[in-house]
Amino acid sequence: MSEYVLSIDQGTTSTRAVVFDHSGAVAGSSQKEHQQRFPQAGWVEHDAAEIWRNTREVIGRALADADISRNQLAAVGLTNQRETTVVWDRHTGQPIYNAIVWQDTRTQSICDELAQDGGSDRFKAETGLPLATYFAGPKIRWILDHVDGARERAENGELAFGTMDTWLLWNLTGGRSGGVHITDVTNASRTLLMNIDTLDWNEQICQQIGVPTAMLPEIRSSSEVYAEGHDRSLVLGVPIAGMLGDQHAATVGQACFEPGQGKNTYGTGNFMLMNTGEEPVHNDAGLLTTVAYQFGDQKPVYALEGSIAVTGSLIQWLRDNLGIISEAAESETRAQQVEDSGGCFVVPAFSGLFAPYWRSDARGVIVGLTRYVNADHICRAALEAVGFQSAEVVEAMNASAPEDLTELKVDGGMVVNDTLMQFQADILGVDVVRPEVIETTALGAAYAAGLAVGFWDSTEDVKNNWREGARWSPQMSAQDRQQRLDQWKKAVTRSFDWVE
Ligand code: ADP
Repeated sequence: MSEYVLSIDQGTTSTRAVVFDHSGAVAGSSQKEHQQRFPQAGWVEHDAAEIWRNTREVIGRALADADISRNQLAAVGLTNQRETTVVWDRHTGQPIYNAIVWQDTRTQSICDELAQDGGSDRFKAETGLPLATYFAGPKIRWILDHVDGARERAENGELAFGTMDTWLLWNLTGGRSGGVHITDVTNASRTLLMNIDTLDWNEQICQQIGVPTAMLPEIRSSSEVYAEGHDRSLVLGVPIAGMLGDQHAATVGQACFEPGQGKNTYGTGNFMLMNTGEEPVHNDAGLLTTVAYQFGDQKPVYALEGSIAVTGSLIQWLRDNLGIISEAAESETRAQQVEDSGGCFVVPAFSGLFAPYWRSDARGVIVGLTRYVNADHICRAALEAVGFQSAEVVEAMNASAPEDLTELKVDGGMVVNDTLMQFQADILGVDVVRPEVIETTALGAAYAAGLAVGFWDSTEDVKNNWREGARWSPQMSAQDRQQRLDQWKKAVTRSFDWVE
């Protein structure tokens, strides 16, 4: 009997495999970090082959942890860090270059060159996105420009492009011996190459950015049987039936199925998505138009997204680059030693600023330093920076949606941090709510897969499985909140105009 669904969550810092039962509870899991490579300032790479090895390892360990065999799996769902770009040789199965990670800013000159003709919003009407280093299209172009002979091989159909969903699906289904080359609408919506209305590759934009269509995967829905697992994958014969970008999966995992419902995920970066229904809504307040999810042959559901590049990775930076904490949780114990940030603000514009500013010329600053400020204050300011950045995204959402947000559903690796969650409620002035299962990303991919094979009947099952785990209510005065937000906005302006 098939009693479980396996979800693979290929994130920026680690890869997880999680086994869920029918109630949406975790039956077993495993997680493994992969190496972050920073070959130059602004460059971030992953080894796609390492990620595939880790994926197989965590699948095996998660099944063992749940004490089940693959025969007890109804389906496999995949979710992934988005935009991270791999190009590989279809015959050897080897990537031709390290994966270029979403945070990487090396494509700035490509984006600047493209913006000369029509500005940075030249593809916005078609794709829903501004021209930015964040998205996959310019990263593909960079690889083809810098690896000898790659463009010609891509044009001949010898090379394949994929984001991590596509790379893992291809490998899980046999790789060079018959792997399928497919992406889903949510991941495709982050390439700058897909029409947001028709959900097809836009050939003209592909040509303008310099991406041969012969290397692109087929675009499918987020919930359907794509293929079965191959014998090298540990899930031989199990249908792989759900695939969506991590933020989109979290939207599903948080049961945000009605227009106006949204969630904020606190991982390496922060990403807030709000369901806007069956039509794409275009936005001038710095939010992206994206596909939330598409279940089988149903109509796609769209979302507005506020993307923040650096939140959890700021905590990693405190640990790895400054050495003032030895593990992420210590950011909280240190922050609790002080009443406030001592007047200092950290603006972590390491990859420029994403929503709502989209300033690629910005770089990180710490302002308000005095002789009084110590490492505890900096830890507190770092956590507050996460809250302030999200507050600015909520402000943009409120300006764009018919009604203001009344509470914020949260998830992701950072939401175990109570100090951060309390500050978030304080600075937003609304309740912050965490579900019982905070693995919403993995859960959302499991739902997409389980719905495709009838393991779950409908989204009603998903809604019924959602249970509140914790809630934080605002305690800060409105005056205090406004004053701090004003100071934060002033601090942000200090990060501008740093890169020519
Ligand atoms: P991703 O899916 O992007 O890989 P996760 O959702 O796993 O990210 O979250 C990991 C991030 O959360 C890391 O950047 C880490 O620094 C941060 N993090 C983990 N625990 C804490 C904590 N207790 N306080 C603050 N940040 C934390």
